[in-house]
Amino acid sequence: MTRSSLLTLRNVDIFYGRIHAVKRVSMHVNAGEIVALIGGNGAGKTSLLTTISGLVRPASGSVSYEGREIHKTRADRIVRMGVTHVPEGRLVFGPMSVADNLALGGYVRADKDEARRDLEQIYSMFPVLAERRHQMAGTLSGGEQQMLAIGRALMAKPRLLLLDEPSMGLAPRIAREIFHHVVELKERFGLTVLLVEQNAKNALRIADRGYVLETGRVVLQGPAEDLLANRDVQRAYLGRE
Ligand code: ATP
Repeated sequence: MTRSSLLTLRNVDIFYGRIHAVKRVSMHVNAGEIVALIGGNGAGKTSLLTTISGLVRPASGSVSYEGREIHKTRADRIVRMGVTHVPEGRLVFGPMSVADNLALGGYVRADKDEARRDLEQIYSMFPVLAERRHQMAGTLSGGEQQMLAIGRALMAKPRLLLLDEPSMGLAPRIAREIFHHVVELKERFGLTVLLVEQNAKNALRIADRGYVLETGRVVLQGPAEDLLANRDVQRAYLGRE
């Protein structure tokens, strides 16, 4: 951990009944970083995100955000503290318009004027959402729905964004566009991002640091460029684009 660490997990264990999904995981995310969490199916990546956002309780260990322990804090409170989770599968509300989906993301906010300005920024970052603001979210393409899911998360005015598999099911060109937007979130909005991805190559290309998770344990960690150059990582995870 460093002094600028925004999020710190210490020795986190997560169980589902008797399944020990996450085993004594310690990790941290510094303010302003993009940190990639990579690993195969069932490695425990999603479990870590849902634990950080307060949807799943760790059996032991701790999660701290801005120096305060949050692993017993309610999920809605964690959102208000500045942590927003974009779950896997971009769960937008299909029968609602793009604009209404974005408005829902801002429901936790009291600063309605500022929220209106943020909405305009989101529309300028994702012009396709502005063009389609009255269209039902369920009729958007996969890439557009992912942009909407990210835009809705931004409306909650997060400091830390938890992104679960944003490139899943997207064509390579669209996936690259999404990754480009993730960099923009860091550079333009000063956001800190914890990014879970099976697409390890693209994730590590945009990340500052990364953690490799295997069957619930951190087996490697370090600067993203070192992980990209690591033979074991290349063999296990970097085959796919
Ligand atoms: P994927 O990339 O396939 O989503 P992951 O790395 O995100 O995988 P998790 O979804 O966190 O992994 O799952 C870790 C382990 O916990 C797996 O063995 C999974 O079957 C199990 N698991 C996850 N959620 C539950 C649940 N709600 N009930 C029971 N077991 C679960």
